[in-house]
Amino acid sequence: MGKSSKDKRDVYYRLAKEEGWRARSAFKLLQINEDYNIFEGVKKVVDLCAAPGSWSQVLSRKLRGDNEDTNNVKIVAVDLQAMAPIPGVIQIQGDITKTSTADEIIGHFEGEQADLVVCDGAPDVTGLHDIDEYIQAQLLLAALNITTHVLKSGGTFVAKIFRGKDVSLLYSQLKIFFPNVSVFKPRSSRNSSIEAFVVCSGYSPPDGYTPNMSNPLLDHKYDLDYNNLTGPNRVIVPFLACGDLSGFDSDKTYPLQLPGRDYEYHAPTQSPIDPPYKEACQLRKTDKLAKPEKQIKTSSDTDNNTYI
Ligand code: SAM
Repeated sequence: MGKSSKDKRDVYYRLAKEEGWRARSAFKLLQINEDYNIFEGVKKVVDLCAAPGSWSQVLSRKLRGDNEDTNNVKIVAVDLQAMAPIPGVIQIQGDITKTSTADEIIGHFEGEQADLVVCDGAPDVTGLHDIDEYIQAQLLLAALNITTHVLKSGGTFVAKIFRGKDVSLLYSQLKIFFPNVSVFKPRSSRNSSIEAFVVCSGYSPPDGYTPNMSNPLLDHKYDLDYNNLTGPNRVIVPFLACGDLSGFDSDKTYPLQLPGRDYEYHAPTQSPIDPPYKEACQLRKTDKLAKPEKQIKTSSDTDNNTYI
């Protein structure tokens, strides 16, 4: 959280300090809940990309509150960065794109499932929009991968998303797992930012889907594993190669005279109307395109007049 005068003029920055939140992002989760009621009946949550911890604070206050019986409440928070402790929050320091981190999260649930997974993951932005959007999408997909391992049927997934030009591909991927996918821009999220949050409810993976942490970008065994996948775990788009050995090979060049086919010149069916090389053709026809002879001074030159 910054300390510049611009920060001080940001009302959510000031409010966060007044209310004891570690970051102004707390209001984003609170406002998502105001509109979507995502905390209703929730006891077990995973907070991905959680540092410095304002979302975990919100979860801790909302789910545990003053409740004496907090035994049933489980909040697991994960981030690359270390985080100061928060009451009732189990912390894991790790990379959410790594299988080992996913395994650690799953381990904390001891066979039980989460009601809600939230992810406020953002890369260190480079300023190169295409790259930032791509990395953010990869974080979201890593979060979705983990979610498929821990979320109960009917559960909810909330994640930050950058509304870049390819965002509809992500929406389609989310729709495979959730019947309800909507995008929400909380009041506390700056209008100048392309960030928004997907709120996906009613988790229901395709029949026969088996959660699988393989990521082709990170896991070099992916090709091997992928070949073993079956049913809805592997989508194969048909590839049809046309032709057979008796046809022409489009990568080969052939002599003008082919057996049984005399070569005859045919003018182009339609010549280009105004080709960019028209002027060069004209110049060549009138012999005006010849390169000037190189002027090389010989060793016998004395007066700069003799050239070859
Ligand atoms: N929700 C947090 C809060 O309210 O305090 C703020 C999250 S901050 C916007 C984004 C976080 O994503 C950073 O703390 C960063 O370390 C984390 N992050 C980025 N890539 C990550 C990764 N691959 N694995 C785990 N955390 C990651």
